[in-house]
Amino acid sequence: MSEQFKKLVAHCKEYGFVFQSSEVYDGLSAVYDYGPYGVELKNNIKEYWWKAMVHNHENIVGIDSAIFMHPKTWKASGHVDAFNDPLVDNKDSKKRYRADQLIEGYAEKIEAKIQKDVDKAKKKFGDDFDEAQFRSTNGRIIDRQKKIDHAINTMNEYLGAENMEGLKALIEELEIACPESGSRNWTDVRQFNLMFSTQLGNVAGEEGKLYLRPETAQGIFVNFLNVQKTSRQKLPFGIAQIGKAFRNEIVARQFIFRMREFEQMEMQFFVRPGTQKEWFEKWKEARLAWHKAIGSPAEKLKWHEHENLAHYADAAVDIEFQFPFGFRELEGIHSRTNFDLTSHQELSGRKIQYFDPELNENYVPYVVETSIGLDRMFLAMMTNSLREETVPDASGKESTRVVLKLHPVLAPVKCAVLPLVKNKPELTAKAKEVFNSVKFAFNCQYDEKDAIGRRYRRQDAIGTPYCITVDFESLEDNMVTIRDRDSLKQERVSVEEAKAMVMKGIDMSVLFA
Ligand code: ATP
Repeated sequence: MSEQFKKLVAHCKEYGFVFQSSEVYDGLSAVYDYGPYGVELKNNIKEYWWKAMVHNHENIVGIDSAIFMHPKTWKASGHVDAFNDPLVDNKDSKKRYRADQLIEGYAEKIEAKIQKDVDKAKKKFGDDFDEAQFRSTNGRIIDRQKKIDHAINTMNEYLGAENMEGLKALIEELEIACPESGSRNWTDVRQFNLMFSTQLGNVAGEEGKLYLRPETAQGIFVNFLNVQKTSRQKLPFGIAQIGKAFRNEIVARQFIFRMREFEQMEMQFFVRPGTQKEWFEKWKEARLAWHKAIGSPAEKLKWHEHENLAHYADAAVDIEFQFPFGFRELEGIHSRTNFDLTSHQELSGRKIQYFDPELNENYVPYVVETSIGLDRMFLAMMTNSLREETVPDASGKESTRVVLKLHPVLAPVKCAVLPLVKNKPELTAKAKEVFNSVKFAFNCQYDEKDAIGRRYRRQDAIGTPYCITVDFESLEDNMVTIRDRDSLKQERVSVEEAKAMVMKGIDMSVLFA
């Protein structure tokens, strides 16, 4: 784990954003709980997504479907037969790995070596340096790139053909060793289904076997007709949902990036067959714009085209984010064809079709999906905003502060109201009065413990964009000092003006303009 990542995880715990689940029992692996500030940040991300996707589109509506679904759902969707990861154990360390991740790790190591050479050359040649040319002409880099391409292409071929023996042979050929023990003593590679199952109380055997949903999308598909009819939507239209999903991940590490219980924000957009590519492009653009509007810098976002399309897709792309451990998938945009609706139609024996009044015909709509992990978005926002800065303290001396530069729209606490000093009843009373006059407008915190400088630092660390300080003059003139988290600018304004400044700063609607 990098230093930056360690600090982020520690910060999340220290300030009540994220806790290990069941920590008193030493925790449950890859399951996490969100604390007081974490739940606020999470709710704000959900609101930003819901507004952008549902409220801002007349032709998108929301649902909240159950986690349990009829077991046939998962047969139809392909999850019972194909929601597998290739698993391999190291016989010496007894550690379990995903075969594809071991191979990708091998490729990443070589890529890191290439990058080192590129960086060195960049330094040497300065402005004249042409990276593309260097990569395509430097002998050592060409050889290394060949190794990467061979590993990844062969892996993709074997994954596509479900060739587990091939994957094992590839791991041996590449001489991949267990990161824990350094040994190359591997078991065979075998498929492992990622769905958690449980049992209905009143039905014995296979019949009563239920799954915890591994994605929220199927709740949308099986409700397609219910929603379309009751909301009187015409194609194209979308159905959105936010909810929990469960996956028995083989290797669950990297904090809340890969969890066994997590939350998804998914939208299925139903379109006329033949128009899916056009909608796929539109949603790609819209989703990237959503990420940029909330402050993710363009250089931390990148597209990843899928080489290996899932059984249901005719196009798929990921938006990757630069997490502390590298670029990884944050959101997927998939053109899912009419696979899911057709499968449900076949297995249920019910007609799941749309009558298109313009074409005067019935058909099974095509679907373009946008699917983002809420927890991964949370991690992306923490990664992007946690900084250490040198700033002048109250006495003007340089000091270091830890600040969470979250977009004010996402900040857990929007404003803190602080009496300049404590144990002065008249000051406390005035500060409480200010607090009470703003607390119904946004999430606000009253704090009087410790010196004012320390209280500012505490608010910086949880990302509070504004602090309102009440001092002795406030008692006379009803003016307060409002401090901006990022610029550190302090302004003397009336209570009403301070409230209006906070309201303006946290106004989500400007992000959609
Ligand atoms: P990965 O390749 O990282 O396992 P995936 O391609 O299986 O992800 P999807 O099935 O496309 O993921 O799920 C949509 C989104 O749900 C992902 O982009 C990710 O943000 C989120 N997600 C998937 N699995 C997890 C998990 N185990 N923990 C947290 N978020 C997840």
